[in-house]
Amino acid sequence: MLELKNVSHLYPNGVRALDDVSLSISKGMFGLLGPNGAGKSTLMRTVATLQTPTSGKIHFDDIDILAEPEALRRRLGYLPQDFGVYPRVSAYDMLDHMAVLKGIASRADRRDTVETLLNQTNLWAVRKKAIAGFSGGMRQRFGIAQALIGNPDLIIVDEPTAGLDPEERNRFLNLLAEIGENVVIILSTHIVEDVADLCPAMAVLVGGSIRLEGAPRLLIERAKGTIWAKTIERSELDAYRSMYEVISTRLFAGETIIHILCDHDPGDRFRAVDGGLEDVYFSTLAASRRNRTSGEVDEAAQAA
Ligand code: ADP
Repeated sequence: MLELKNVSHLYPNGVRALDDVSLSISKGMFGLLGPNGAGKSTLMRTVATLQTPTSGKIHFDDIDILAEPEALRRRLGYLPQDFGVYPRVSAYDMLDHMAVLKGIASRADRRDTVETLLNQTNLWAVRKKAIAGFSGGMRQRFGIAQALIGNPDLIIVDEPTAGLDPEERNRFLNLLAEIGENVVIILSTHIVEDVADLCPAMAVLVGGSIRLEGAPRLLIERAKGTIWAKTIERSELDAYRSMYEVISTRLFAGETIIHILCDHDPGDRFRAVDGGLEDVYFSTLAASRRNRTSGEVDEAAQAA
């Protein structure tokens, strides 16, 4: 179990990237969803002990990770957002080298580890090829292979599907799903489907704060009866925005479909929709925008 208590982080330039984040993350896949700039990478790097938060506490089982970062690192597998290692050495040799760095001294143990991981990540056929020539999907699978060296029981993958085509993304997510239920896996992403497809637990991070937390299925259930849809003319959009809380707009076959948030039937030829996780997420973003705007109005009022 990973526990974060009141974790905040203030960068020297004054950006408060994390603001009092508390989370309890159990074994299994946990989705950390948020838009760009929400603070996801800051949080992932902090848990991976690559940076120290300004305040707060983090425990993984009985390890106080701020006091004993080395102990955490022995149990951690980390795939950073910009895994910028694309050398001209083969996947096999690179993994072998990384296994040495992770402390697997015996040659036989390393061979076992490297061959198992290459098979698991479906890279066996290209094991002798240079990583520099890999496609984006192959690189990400290699990234997971290196993260799994040494059987970590805390695995952090930061925005792993950004830039992958749908087939590669699918393959990558299936690989994550196979890693096992006895480890904590944190998947940070701005892509709602990544979380909807495979995370039994999730949180939404916006502006450094946790705005929503729970099981996607329950959150979707809770949103029932509050999401309404209507097809409108593009030119009517501003008028609808001023009348309703429009949480998303999308083009479908040349028409504009809006989704709004409303706890009762708004009439006006809106139809009820069974909201999905995307609606839940967009509602959360809309609510935090609203809070921010009202905060700004309050501040302005106080300043006046
Ligand atoms: P995300 O991963 O969700 O896109 P980040 O953690 O990268 O979010 O960034 C959160 C906020 O902190 C952003 O406003 C970003 O500009 C800022 N930030 C990130 N890294 C640094 C840094 N090293 N120095 C100053 N500000 C940073």
